Amino acid sequence: MAKFDYAPAPESRDIVTIRPSYGLFIGGEFTHGTDGRAFKTISPATEEVLAEVTEAGPADVDRAVAAARAAYQRTWAGMPPKDRAKYLYRIARIVQERARELAVLESLDNGKPIRESRDVDIPLAAAHFFYHAGWADKLEYAGFGPAPGPLGVAGQVIPWNFPLLMLAWKIAPALACGNTVVLKPAETTPLTALTFAEICQQADLPPGVVNIVTGAGETGRALVTHPGVDKVAFTGSTEVGKEIARALAGTGKRLTLELGGKAANIVFEDAPIDQAVEGIVNGIFFNQGHVCCAGSRLLVQESVYDQVLASLRRRLRTLRLGDPLDKNTDVGAINSAAQLAKIRELSDAGEAEGARRWSPPCELPVKGFWFPPTVFTGVSQAHRIAREEIFGPVLSVLTFRTPAEAVEKANNTPYGLSAGVWTEKGSLILWMAARLRAGVVWANTFNKFDPSSPFGGYKESGYGREGGRHGLEAYLDV
Ligand code: NAD
Repeated sequence: MAKFDYAPAPESRDIVTIRPSYGLFIGGEFTHGTDGRAFKTISPATEEVLAEVTEAGPADVDRAVAAARAAYQRTWAGMPPKDRAKYLYRIARIVQERARELAVLESLDNGKPIRESRDVDIPLAAAHFFYHAGWADKLEYAGFGPAPGPLGVAGQVIPWNFPLLMLAWKIAPALACGNTVVLKPAETTPLTALTFAEICQQADLPPGVVNIVTGAGETGRALVTHPGVDKVAFTGSTEVGKEIARALAGTGKRLTLELGGKAANIVFEDAPIDQAVEGIVNGIFFNQGHVCCAGSRLLVQESVYDQVLASLRRRLRTLRLGDPLDKNTDVGAINSAAQLAKIRELSDAGEAEGARRWSPPCELPVKGFWFPPTVFTGVSQAHRIAREEIFGPVLSVLTFRTPAEAVEKANNTPYGLSAGVWTEKGSLILWMAARLRAGVVWANTFNKFDPSSPFGGYKESGYGREGGRHGLEAYLDV
């Protein structure tokens, strides 16, 4: 099928006011960094510099933790839970009111299509605040004892793939449970977190309840190892997660880790193939594959391999890659030059190891960081592209004959964050779900998220859960 010609439909940038430079949000105010260091955040689609952002050093992290401690002791922990809930509802409503602005800003800073930031990231971020606002005054009914208390100051570090959404996953449950926070956004996507700081001011949140410190790995390290932090929540790579686990061992700090993944998306011969193909595309090309739970390994039953692959290739020819702010765009920019280099390196390794590489015809913009949707066939379990997380729009296709073989191949990974099963048989779904070592198993769908549904990993994908009743436990002294 030929692509329709669409006229460009770019979302206007006018709704966003980006300041030339941003300070750190500490104690309810934007302040200068102690040692005057700064870094630039750029649009990965155009390489345009968007703003200069302060790099927080250890003295700044110290100030932020002290502000969070003071707010914890003076106001937040002792506040009647129903009043905490009011602040969370207020934040949720402001996120909704400023949704268009936040969506445009997210697409500019991250490179993701506006369709996704507008329809997924921002509405889900608001939903997390609404959901946890509801919990704030009902914690004694959450199943963690009659009077579960907060932990204290939470140090939270998040990645760049869903900047505002990951912030919401971290801040909403922490605040609902009575903790105060110091959050560090990723260095390539700090802008929506800094706008969230403005939202905290707008909501009249007591100063110091939320503090945002910007910077890279060094700032993150200073935060998670700070002795004034009682609880650490980290989402990011398995490598850094391991380093944090080592650094925190024996300190008594509570730790939850949401790390990498290499999910299997498993298609049985009786699956509705057209729906499954949509699920495969959504599973790996949503958000340029920058998704920890992406369905990066497609396992197809041999009997329908040709049919699924033909249908998948046909579908991929219709994807539009380009300007993230265009409402017709399906695939946006890769978030950074470093991530692009990693995707290229692993894809080249796939070819060198003997897998066959295919991409639909697509023109890549000259400026910015881009990688075409890519499918590897003839992949064996030993290939690096079947074992390592690529975190890009690259799908590795393997086959199987029996359900037992599908389970064995799906579980043959150091990760265990998610999996997908496509079949008409409910009994097979349950049989598979009981055997797949993955925190989330989707049946006849993929990449579906809801604040009430716990999310988290097995094995090297981390520990602890975020979302739902289970996710509250990480922020309560139980
Ligand atoms: P990363 O681990 O390099 O960085 C993540 C965050 O940690 C960033 O804010 C970074 O500045 C900070 N950081 C880096 N070194 C640090 C250190 N030594 N101490 C403390 N903080 C440090 O990961 P990334 O490449 O930015 O993100 C992609 C990774 O995140 C992927 O592996 C992906 O699977 C994972 N991820 C997991 C989930 C999940 O919920 N499981 C969700 C999104 C992304």
